[in-house]
Amino acid sequence: VAQPPKPSKLKVGVDVPWVTSWSGEEQLGVSRCASVDGALAFAQADRPGLGRPLYSQNHVRRQRESVRRMLCPMCGEPTPADDRWTLLAKPETAASLKAKGLDFVLPPGLAPDHELLNAGSISPLHRACADRSSMLCPHIRGDISAALRPFPKRWSVAPLMVKATPQIEHFRARAASQSPVMVILFLQLCGIA
Ligand SMILES: [Zn+2]
Repeated sequence: VAQPPKPSKLKVGVDVPWVTSWSGEEQLGVSRCASVDGALAFAQADRPGLGRPLYSQNHVRRQRESVRRMLCPMCGEPTPADDRWTLLAKPETAASLKAKGLDFVLPPGLAPDHELLNAGSISPLHRACADRSSMLCPHIRGDISAALRPFPKRWSVAPLMVKATPQIEHFRARAASQSPVMVILFLQLCGIA
């Protein structure tokens, strides 16, 4: 018999990154989300600290807000422009990103050799939070390409879209509820040197 999730002793933003999903935060389907200016996006219950942390899954809305508002994924507080660091972002060029089919994240007109720092779904951290993460997180410790790098002053953001069928309760028109639409899951971030 499944037990309802209990509050964890682990502290959000201290023991567990703020952006991490918890087992008590169920998926809620598709709805309009303020984190992406009211566009259709995946929704998820908002109960960090309930149940157990799901370290390999970001919470969908917290992830979008972290990129949109430059919130540190570890502590959830805004990062000032002079204190933004990455550990897992990968150096790329406009050409190498294009070769991987990821150039949709880039603004038009960059030269093929333009230097980029592809952060994927991870917003920059405070220096203190980056130091703490690299000590505590086995995923970061185990990644030989992990390196502390300053995040560039310019960046671009692009939505990662997936096809979904919105639930009927979010729409008055039954017809609209039955056709799949493109919906925002996460936001992708790329630093532009
Ligand atoms: Zn922080």
